[in-house]
Amino acid sequence: MQLYNTLSRKKETFSPIKSKVGFYSCGPTVYHFAHIGNLRSYIFADILKRVLEFNQYKVKHVMNITDVGHLTSDADEGEDKMLKGAKREKKTVWEIAEFYTKAFKEDMNKLNIIEPNIWCKATDHIKEQIDMIKKLEKNGFTYTADGNVYFDTSKLDDYGKLAKLNLNAETKSRVKKDKNKKNKHDFVLWFTKSKFDKQEMKWDSPWGEGYPGWHLECSAMSSKYLGKQFDIHTGGIDHIPVHHTNEIAQSEASFGKKPWVKYWLHGEFLVLKEEKMAKSIGEFLTLQSLIDKKYDPLDYRYFCLGTSYRKPLTFSFEALDSAKNALNKLRNKILEMLEYPDVGKKDTEKYIEDFQVNINDDLNTPKALAAVWGMLKDEKVNNKDKYKTLIEFDRVLGLGLEEIKLNELPEEIQNLITEREHARLKKDFKKADDLRDKLKNKGYLIEDTDKGVRWKKA
Ligand code: AMP
Ligand code: ZN
Repeated sequence: MQLYNTLSRKKETFSPIKSKVGFYSCGPTVYHFAHIGNLRSYIFADILKRVLEFNQYKVKHVMNITDVGHLTSDADEGEDKMLKGAKREKKTVWEIAEFYTKAFKEDMNKLNIIEPNIWCKATDHIKEQIDMIKKLEKNGFTYTADGNVYFDTSKLDDYGKLAKLNLNAETKSRVKKDKNKKNKHDFVLWFTKSKFDKQEMKWDSPWGEGYPGWHLECSAMSSKYLGKQFDIHTGGIDHIPVHHTNEIAQSEASFGKKPWVKYWLHGEFLVLKEEKMAKSIGEFLTLQSLIDKKYDPLDYRYFCLGTSYRKPLTFSFEALDSAKNALNKLRNKILEMLEYPDVGKKDTEKYIEDFQVNINDDLNTPKALAAVWGMLKDEKVNNKDKYKTLIEFDRVLGLGLEEIKLNELPEEIQNLITEREHARLKKDFKKADDLRDKLKNKGYLIEDTDKGVRWKKA
């Protein structure tokens, strides 16, 4: 298996540290619904996990829930996201966190994303985060200024290696610089001086009552569940310059192990008319907004699989329609395969090989889908083998293909088809045509063939 490692900017052959793969995905900040861009990132992580399992690896997957209010800017500036959500909805931050965590898990479920083995909430791991700051303090990587504890990035000789940061470059920043920082990239490990009125989430600590900086939770929780060194860490590309860079700094300064994580994988952004989607902008597309427009959540999953996770993906409803049509075509093919499991030459090997080579080439899902369609169009392969192979491929694709069953017709639809058959037998073609239209409106296309009436989903 080849995976593109952001750390080396190269595709590398995957080889786990121990037999079980340790895999950590940065999870959502639960102050609002996830937008479909966020969900693209989790579909990518899901495909990665499924490909690992397809290759017979056992995987321990951990995902965090960020429920401590971190700031709208990654660089310790801006508004507290959780507080913003609470104000907007006139709820407590705890209620906001609970509500949007549940909503996120429901979205994952609808998209056939396999749940991680371990979910961990930042607010359940304050002690672990405080312990980590103590360790960093002991190792000489911190300083305190104006009540806050900072990480001193100048103490590391390779700070910024993930993002290949140029530490001397001046950046134009619209936000006011924190005068307490000794170095431009230093970041807060523990806030005691809250800039916000009514800060609800606060804990006691050796440095005073306050709350942890955002980056800390991922270092503290991943080491708790996966050990001080593990295999894979994922997130969106926006995490490279600050969040993941700072996770690496804290972890390597604390554990002394280099590299802390062997493979860093980052998903490119979903974009809308050339602009990235951001929850903080306020207006965004959720999975529910697609469902309201009569899309199946798996249409969106299929749409994401059509592009490599390392390429930006521009969202449009036309493109989503094409994905929907392709998925429906795939489902209809399955019904056909189930209904006519004819005999014939068995030759699925080359497609299996093609599929495997492509998913193992840094999760090339578009080419893997091409292998699927290549097999489906090949008339020399019998339907029974096609079906068996397709279901095997779906362990990676996660399109719920095994759930498609021949006699899955809802009773109401079955009754309408029978009624139409009776009308046809009585030569009442007007009624038969009306019923065909009615069925079409309900999403079923009816075809009269030599072998009898056939239906498929529109
Ligand atoms: P957040 O809840 O803001 O921490 O974001 C959750 C995940 O979504 C992170 O891994 C981000 O990198 C990722 N993300 C944010 N915006 C987008 C986008 N437009 N396209 C793809 N991934 C995104
Ligand atoms: Zn993280």
